[in-house]
Amino acid sequence: MKISRIDHLGIGVQSIDEVLPYYEGVLGLKCYAVEEVADQKVKTAFFKVGEVKIELLEPTSEDSTIAKWLANGGKGVHHVAFAVEDGVADALVEVEGKGVRLIDKAPRPGAENMMIGFLHPKSTAGVLTELCEPKR
Ligand code: ZN
Repeated sequence: MKISRIDHLGIGVQSIDEVLPYYEGVLGLKCYAVEEVADQKVKTAFFKVGEVKIELLEPTSEDSTIAKWLANGGKGVHHVAFAVEDGVADALVEVEGKGVRLIDKAPRPGAENMMIGFLHPKSTAGVLTELCEPKR
C-alpha cells in the first residue's frame, strides 16, 4: 500500500449551516461542494486547505453512523482519510493481512467520486481511518 497524502479530515457536525460562519467567516475558507452521500446517510461540505480537504459530515437520518457518533458524545474530528495510490480494495486486503480489523471489507462509494474503506479504530490507535482513491 502506498499512501500519497492525507486526503481529508472528516468532521462531524449536527448542522453544516450552523458551522459555516466559522469555516467561511472566521477561517476564510470557501465551501466548494455540498453533496449528499446516500450510502452513509450524510450531507457533506468540502473546503480545500492546500492539498488537504476538510469534509463536514451532517447526518441526514437518525440511523446514520454520524448521528449515532454525535449522540454518543462524538464531537470534532471524526476520521482521517489517507489517499492510497494502488487501490482501496488491495489496501484493505493488505492491512487485514497485517491483523487490522476492518469496518469495510470491500470499497464502497464515498463523496467526491471516491471509493472508500474504513479501518476500525480498535486497530488504529483510536483514530477512525479511511482509505480512499478516485473512482476509476
Ligand atoms: Zn471521509
